[in-house]
Amino acid sequence: MNYRHSYHAGNFADVVKHSLQWLVLDYLGQKDKPYWVLDTHAGIGMYDLQGEQAQKTGEATDGIARLLGRDDIPAVLQSYVAQVQQLNPTGELRWYPGSPWFSAEQLRAQDQLVLCELHPQDSLALAANVKQEFASAGSIKVLTETNGYAALKGLLPPPIKRGLVLIDPPFEQRDELQTLVAALDAATKRWAIGVYAVWYPIKDPLSIGDFHQQVAQLKHVQKAYAVDILIRDAQDRQTLNGCGMLFINPPFGLLQQVDEVMNYLTPLLAQGRGAQWQGVWLT
Ligand code: SAM
Repeated sequence: MNYRHSYHAGNFADVVKHSLQWLVLDYLGQKDKPYWVLDTHAGIGMYDLQGEQAQKTGEATDGIARLLGRDDIPAVLQSYVAQVQQLNPTGELRWYPGSPWFSAEQLRAQDQLVLCELHPQDSLALAANVKQEFASAGSIKVLTETNGYAALKGLLPPPIKRGLVLIDPPFEQRDELQTLVAALDAATKRWAIGVYAVWYPIKDPLSIGDFHQQVAQLKHVQKAYAVDILIRDAQDRQTLNGCGMLFINPPFGLLQQVDEVMNYLTPLLAQGRGAQWQGVWLT
């Protein structure tokens, strides 16, 4: 396990992922009924962009830094951006939160969040951050040194009947997409009505078509929608040219807001010619 998210925190992919995550949670919070969130690959929850690892790559410069200080942020993104601004009150960008923090901020007293992290050190850092830095109205459980894929099998269906499963693997293994498809098959068999949001990297856009097709063929997946962004033409297929977010059972009304978010973010996050996004129903 070499992947450490602190090298990548706040990059373009985090901006896409977290702004869409924020929208989904917003939808779930529109009804008083409680909801449940499982974050299978949680990371450490809070990142110091002035730390050694983040400084080494400087990826946040082409990510969240491009949004802060702009005066044309659309209403649909303002609340996400405000979360980051609130952590950096002087205006100097230092802290960028992870997916657990965004979920925790949205939880209401009746909601529950379960966080899995496998890496021993990152697990401990996550648990410490949740204890010291998070001020959530809802309940948060950290499962340290826990395999998120195994947790999907063990925890689904959840005790609360509505909610979100966020899956954000490191893609260190060449067959991670296959693992994902198998995990989604097992998860949707146990909990077909849950909302799933699955992040994936795009190096070669052509290879993503196979993944989409496999998801579409899963027996218990009724509704699946994929949002893919390229930040440049994918001429070099060895580098990260974009990313995608797969939604299973996207809440009604979400996709119009996804459009607004992606129309704004795509030119803003572009790192060359050919930046584009598309949203497609897979089922
Ligand atoms: N979701 C986080 C966020 O948005 O802030 C970032 C997660 S990062 C892309 C992937 C994380 O998964 C890493 O912290 C890594 O240590 C952890 N990880 C790797 N394999 C895992 C597994 N099988 N189960 C749970 N966590 C895993």
